Amino acid sequence: MIEALPGTGVPGEQVLAELRELRAADLPTHGGRLFAYVYDPAVAGLDELARAAYAISAHVNGLDPTAFPSLLAMENALVAAAGRLLGGGPGTAAPEVVGSVTSGGTESLILAVKAARDAHPEIERPRLVVPSTAHAAFAKAAHYLRVALDVVPVGPDLRADPAAMAAAIGPETVLVAASAPSYAHGVVDPITELAARAAERGVRFHVDACFGGWVLPYLRRLGAGLPAFDFTVPGVTSISVDLHKYAYAPKGVSVLLHRDAGLRLPQFFAYADWPGYTMVNPVISSTRSGGPIAAALATLRHLGDDGYLRLAGHTRDAVAVLAAAVEATGGVRLFAPPETSVVCLAAEPDVDLFVLADELAGRGWHTQPQLAYAELPATIHLTVTAAVAGTAAEFGPDLAAAVAATRARGPVQLPPALLEAAGALTPQMVTPELIEGLAASLGLGEDVGKSMAAVNSLLNVAPPALREALLAGFLSQLQRPAW
Ligand SMILES: *Cc1c(COP(=O)(O)O)cnc(C)c1O
Repeated sequence: MIEALPGTGVPGEQVLAELRELRAADLPTHGGRLFAYVYDPAVAGLDELARAAYAISAHVNGLDPTAFPSLLAMENALVAAAGRLLGGGPGTAAPEVVGSVTSGGTESLILAVKAARDAHPEIERPRLVVPSTAHAAFAKAAHYLRVALDVVPVGPDLRADPAAMAAAIGPETVLVAASAPSYAHGVVDPITELAARAAERGVRFHVDACFGGWVLPYLRRLGAGLPAFDFTVPGVTSISVDLHKYAYAPKGVSVLLHRDAGLRLPQFFAYADWPGYTMVNPVISSTRSGGPIAAALATLRHLGDDGYLRLAGHTRDAVAVLAAAVEATGGVRLFAPPETSVVCLAAEPDVDLFVLADELAGRGWHTQPQLAYAELPATIHLTVTAAVAGTAAEFGPDLAAAVAATRARGPVQLPPALLEAAGALTPQMVTPELIEGLAASLGLGEDVGKSMAAVNSLLNVAPPALREALLAGFLSQLQRPAW
């Protein structure tokens, strides 16, 4: 437990030592063995550079770009870089591209939906059409903005189905969106076909390239047979790309691009009807630190276009090695084509996927289990970054050993009473007391994160609404003041 406000201040060196000790309990952010949350290029000196840049601008406030022109200049530079990488800028078919720097993919998507919604004040009940593989942040945007969400099932190839998506467009649809690629499976939706259908109906079309926007262009340059997904595609009106993913910037930076300034304008919020300063915000936050923006700029300038090309090559090579390891290992199989920077695997019936994830973690490989959803089975997701090129060769033997150990352990056996009780649960019945009882019967204590198979197995048999209630309950239990 750490006391944030001690009676007497603590020397700086001691505070830093305490922070380092706290950090030691975290998953390793470097070393090429973490397949989610963190994007590591394994470039020597990059952390130090980003940190120094962050420090220079940490106290600069993005609230007013006229007071801090450094931030405006940096944002405009980042937007130009993203715009050019994604097919826009002078001399292209999308010369008028503009954009905003946001705090992350979720904010970029919320703002893309807001801009589309507010471009149509005459539509009383605006709707958003997405494929079922679209990121959950679209559901969050729809929820926050009171926009109805039309979720269209994907085809058996895990890609958005253009005909089904087109059929879902109605007079109240303000935005159609798809992914390049999807987070869960790493496959690219047929952007050209989808954008054409949306354009035919006069509806905006957003490409969620939050995940892959900074690696797909380089993979394509390296010869990957991936389709166009950017502003070169007619009908694409906006694109989001997270710099804190494959641009390898520290957390807190994403870019939302629009094909022209007119499309962006309804994204802004301005308010003069109060006694203070007239507020005009392009993004959700008002006061914003310059730290993440300066760190992102430093990262881009230091790596450069050729650096990103080289890193994409490492990523591509690592994906190939990991995918081959999955294919060579009995008991598991590739669930989606490893065409971008994701390896997604499923298990045969005699291998409990959640036990396998624990066994891999026990061998130092931190993966991301994905629960069964609709007709899709549970899978394990690997976000592959350039750092994995250095470790990928060690994955195959550990995967084989983990599968063998998983078979030896057998599937998770949840107590029948617990399963029965869970089967009768509805989201409304989830109370703090119930969560406490569940946590105790699942053996969740200090060791959260160490053995998740039982928790995942329980969630896996619960319908989505119950999963949401249970996880919200667990999180609420974790987030308690450290009195
Ligand atoms: C990560 C991601 C998001 C959400 O981004 P955050 O930065 O986590 O808010 C949205 N879409 C896709 C495809 C993503 O991978």
